[in-house]
Amino acid sequence: MLDTKKQMTPELLAPAGSPACAETAFAYGADAVYAGIGNFNLRAHSPNFTVEEFGELVDFADGSGRRVYGVLNIMPNDEQLAPLEDALRRLAGGGCKLPHAFIVSDPGVLSLVNDIFAGGVPIHLSTQNGCFNSESMKFWRRQGVSRVILPRELNTEQIRRLSSLDIMETEVFIHGAMCVSISGRCLLGAYYNRRHPNLGDCPQPCRLKYRVIPSDPTASMPHDGFDAEEGDGGVYLLNSKDLCTVGILPAIMGTGAVSFKIEGRNKSAHYVASVVKVYRDAIDTYIASPKDYKVKDWWISELDAIDHRPYTTGFYDDDPIKQELFASKAQAGCRLVGTVKAVIDGCPVIDVKNSFSAPGLESGGGAISILPVNRSQVPFDFTFDTVRELDGPSADPQRARSNRLVVLGGCSERLRVGDMLRVRV
Ligand code: SF4
Repeated sequence: MLDTKKQMTPELLAPAGSPACAETAFAYGADAVYAGIGNFNLRAHSPNFTVEEFGELVDFADGSGRRVYGVLNIMPNDEQLAPLEDALRRLAGGGCKLPHAFIVSDPGVLSLVNDIFAGGVPIHLSTQNGCFNSESMKFWRRQGVSRVILPRELNTEQIRRLSSLDIMETEVFIHGAMCVSISGRCLLGAYYNRRHPNLGDCPQPCRLKYRVIPSDPTASMPHDGFDAEEGDGGVYLLNSKDLCTVGILPAIMGTGAVSFKIEGRNKSAHYVASVVKVYRDAIDTYIASPKDYKVKDWWISELDAIDHRPYTTGFYDDDPIKQELFASKAQAGCRLVGTVKAVIDGCPVIDVKNSFSAPGLESGGGAISILPVNRSQVPFDFTFDTVRELDGPSADPQRARSNRLVVLGGCSERLRVGDMLRVRV
């Protein structure tokens, strides 16, 4: 169990779909990351980590007082257990530090982990397991689980009560995509494409557009129903909105959960940086003075600018309609164009991901917003006059081309290594 002081300051837990996302999450203020080893987790299409990369990540985090949780939450059949066991034995014998916990869902995987690591690595129960009540928590405690990642379908009062029972630590989601089914217990993908959600291969058929065709037109709905219009297309009936809790963070702080988790191991490093920065500041703001907690404008504009569906507070305060009916694709208000890799004589060297121009140019340079890695800085606008490629002059002195290292001159602000440059779209 965490000590009392730490219980007042929950861990900010960020997704790491790749080594780059892990590095970014820590740089922007995450206390811990969760990362998949191989494809033994429910994000089979993230880059994930090899056993060796995972070991290096744990060593890096441990040296700087941060934590890494290895995600092993598939529900494997016997054929899949053998490679999982092999990966775990290689990790155990690899000479690196052990992860700070494994996240498991399946009792067989739990047993395997305990056998191989001799109980030396804490076990966190995946939300996929659907642990909704205190009896279930007591059961899993007896199996050696030390933390439960509670289902998103619980409200704040239910979480507060479960946390207060002191059976084990509780972890809750604070931001990111949600499933229309109960915590991923869903077979839609298996029916549609033979791609199994419980093996990390969900093709997200819930994001598709559907037509509602009642088989019995006289049937009444058990509630008021959705305002679903049948026009030229249909309606995204199963398409859940995204969770956002920055507006109700004090209520979640009051639940006693020790870990606040951000969903998104399929998301980019820019997404991770942006969400981590906002919630880092939100948690720190609350801890500094709970009664003065007030949502800051930049939190909202930052969360609005990243890829997201319309936001909901989900089940925390019983938002009745959690689906977005009329659009499926996540919308972004800005696009990452580069990251500061070095600073030479005061000029930032940018690793350019997408080409961009000096703002205000007739050639189309858009406003550039900086997501600063420094916790005490908020996002700000930025201008520059010149571009040159690090290894020579640029073909166009005012345009940074993608996949190059460029040096910006005539900058309006000093940038730091790790700062991200975005253009508004
Ligand atoms: S199809 Fe949708 S509801 Fe089902 S597991 Fe995948 S994301 Fe969740």
